[in-house]
Amino acid sequence: MARTLSSHMRTIQPSPTVELDARTKALIEAGRDVVNLTAGEPDFRTVPAGEEAAYRAIREGFTKYTPTPGDMRLRRAIAEKLARENGLPYRPEDVVVANGAKQAVYEALLSICDPGDEVILLAPYWVSYAEQVRMAGGHPVPAPSRPEDGFHPRPDEVEAKVGPRTKAIVVNSPNNPTGAVYSEAELRALMEIARRHDLWVISDEIYERLTYDGARHTSPASLGEDAFRRTVVINGASKAFSMTGWRIGYAAASDRDLVRTMIALQTQISSGASSVSQMAALGAFTAPDDAPVREMVRRFDARRRLALEALAAIPELAVTRPEGAFYLFVDVRAYLGHTGGRRFATSAELAEAALDEAQVAVVPGEGFGYPGFWRISYATSDERLEEGLRRLAAWFPRIREATA
Ligand code: PMP
Ligand code: GLU
Repeated sequence: MARTLSSHMRTIQPSPTVELDARTKALIEAGRDVVNLTAGEPDFRTVPAGEEAAYRAIREGFTKYTPTPGDMRLRRAIAEKLARENGLPYRPEDVVVANGAKQAVYEALLSICDPGDEVILLAPYWVSYAEQVRMAGGHPVPAPSRPEDGFHPRPDEVEAKVGPRTKAIVVNSPNNPTGAVYSEAELRALMEIARRHDLWVISDEIYERLTYDGARHTSPASLGEDAFRRTVVINGASKAFSMTGWRIGYAAASDRDLVRTMIALQTQISSGASSVSQMAALGAFTAPDDAPVREMVRRFDARRRLALEALAAIPELAVTRPEGAFYLFVDVRAYLGHTGGRRFATSAELAEAALDEAQVAVVPGEGFGYPGFWRISYATSDERLEEGLRRLAAWFPRIREATA
């Protein structure tokens, strides 16, 4: 037997968001003055209640294995949160705590997919869904949304993607990378498609607290008994509590076989999440004072407005107004394919040039299944965001002149 790698796993691409962020940080460490607008990582400190609970856990020696699906106090707190804030009557036993929402999504996909099964992703989609589906042996099937719809889904076009092998739809509202927050009517239409074709729905709600302009997050599992039965809710501590490094996410589902399978996988993969991190998350989730989260949302909103205004002033860039998360998905197609002095074939090539020449790092749309666009994260300090936008405002007209 030759000492080769798995022919399937060899085809799996690394996460472009993680890789570009790492590459940009390495450039900065090497002395380059790059503005990093790649990562979806809040620049704020972890909420105080989370930090305090972690110190306490360490002092009290809460440093051993926990039950694989999570400490019961945390699972109970999550079930109570899902009932109180999302109208979802889960039992604590229906909750699986994992090492980040990323792992929770993967365990759900592993539990659901047989080889060759199809999973519908509303494009543009978060980079990891497509590769995780493939890692689970399935095929990602993109259902593209459109900028002119504010990247909201057209249910008939989503339904057209359903075939005999379709097993699940992944719904991510508020959306990474577009910031779209789906309306209750849109979610009802998607759940109706899932009902008609008997599909699982993986609902990634990691950005639920980050909504603006009066947009409201609806949990699709709350839209009736059938919706509740077929949905896996994904959420976590990373975004709303600025706890990316603690690696706490979770899945909740009313389907007991699914939960049992996810837990069985987790006993073999990781034995569960860090005990100290679980206590930090418990502290954050049960903090009586919500002010730090609300203040963070207010600051993100101010940055969103600032970035929208600055980008709208750049000729021929088109920006859809996001209603949630902390990203802008920018249409850069007007700068592609010109035959003047500069010619950029793809949004990825244009992003490379921006990094080299404007010293601004962004994530091109290719990894989100949506070339021709850039994702700009405004989860960075006000000063760096302003500097990055200033650089882009100066750079775009320059390449435009060169390509005219
Ligand atoms: N889902 C989406 C849509 C995301 O953008 C992220 C960002 N990291 C995650 C899941 C994973 O979050 P984490 O693993 O940090 O909990
Ligand atoms: N979710 C964040 C992003 O999209 C963090 C990196 C990742 O996990 O993809 O940038």
